[in-house]
Amino acid sequence: YEQWARTNVYRQRQAGYAAVTVALPLGDMTSDQTRRVADLARQYAGGDVRATVEQNLLLRSVREKDLPALHRALAAASLARPGAGTLADITACPGTDTCKLGIASSRGLAAELTTRFAARTGELDPAVESLRIKTSGCFNSCGQHHIADIGFYGVSRNVGGYAVPHFQVVLGGKWRENASSYGLASGAIPSKRIPEVIERITARFVAERRESETFQDYTQRIGKRALKEMFADLAAVPAHDEAPGFYSDWGDPREFTLGDMGVGECAGEVVSLTEFDFAAAEAQLFDAQLRLEEDAVEPADQLAYGAMLLGARGLVKTEFIDVGDEPAAIVREFRTRFFDTQLFFDKYAGGKFGMYLFRRHESGPRATAEAAHRLIEEAQLFLEACHACQARLAARPAAGLPPPPPAAAQRA
Ligand code: SF4
Repeated sequence: YEQWARTNVYRQRQAGYAAVTVALPLGDMTSDQTRRVADLARQYAGGDVRATVEQNLLLRSVREKDLPALHRALAAASLARPGAGTLADITACPGTDTCKLGIASSRGLAAELTTRFAARTGELDPAVESLRIKTSGCFNSCGQHHIADIGFYGVSRNVGGYAVPHFQVVLGGKWRENASSYGLASGAIPSKRIPEVIERITARFVAERRESETFQDYTQRIGKRALKEMFADLAAVPAHDEAPGFYSDWGDPREFTLGDMGVGECAGEVVSLTEFDFAAAEAQLFDAQLRLEEDAVEPADQLAYGAMLLGARGLVKTEFIDVGDEPAAIVREFRTRFFDTQLFFDKYAGGKFGMYLFRRHESGPRATAEAAHRLIEEAQLFLEACHACQARLAARPAAGLPPPPPAAAQRA
């Protein structure tokens, strides 16, 4: 009771009354529990229940003298879980469980982290215990990762011909003050290493924070580069034969694939699969620039090339959703569908930007910093051309569509 009262009960301004959070792991509850909450709300909270953005329920205006009885009743329904508003109270979107835009299992990751941190409620440093973790299956942000202290969104990376589930780490977002700032993207880490990311950043925060420094201030102070470096060793993926667990997602023992993706069903779909690839391409190009600043020529070259492939794939997906991840297939489909048809051509530059992709694809990696720098600039222009092409396609009248059937045929 003491632990529950510490984390789940808030004294109201009205003397003698409190608000009680019913913490729901992953926001889930059974129909029996739902009926029970309704009964308890009628009995103790004036019949009023509020759903929170953190996927919990709130019972308001509970008389303080009723708190022990309410706790007993909630506990009998397995609803008296402590830890509301702590590191163990994680928000997650549906992710790959039910959303066709989901890349990685946001709910699987959240379930794993909930189990780990719930077991440590009360043991964590207070500055860490009050942090919020939020996870999204993709960057559409339905899991609110961008405003979390520690946020994650699902991405995929190709390793040795296999798709490997990753999460992009986003640190130092602000959920207080009306979610007034977004976190810093700090690198993509294999899903199975995300718990280590949290252990590491929270330990460093406790050890290095200045007096009363917030997590947001700490992440801003040490900066994006230091954050990336903090996790650099965790980004490596062991070979498939050595550690096959890296090639499946949390809560799903099957080998990871993007084959289930398609047109999104969830209300959060604000980004199409094409835009999805475009945004990933831009993130990758940004990483290429960072790596080049560190004189890492080969990774910078690979990232810039990868960014162009993502841009090309995004366009191809407007016509052929199953294009896959293979560079040769992406380049072939892009050439056939967008270059040879001149759909990609710029009014003034013609097919020049498309040639940047073909040249890099055919001639292989750039060996010097200068050449890698030029490739990054070319990749930027190529991505701009992809966006322009998509905009032209979207603005076209639906001329390519078959004429609607005659009214008689429709009736038939
Ligand atoms: S579209 Fe929304 S619900 Fe679906 S995976 Fe992406 S963030 Fe989650």
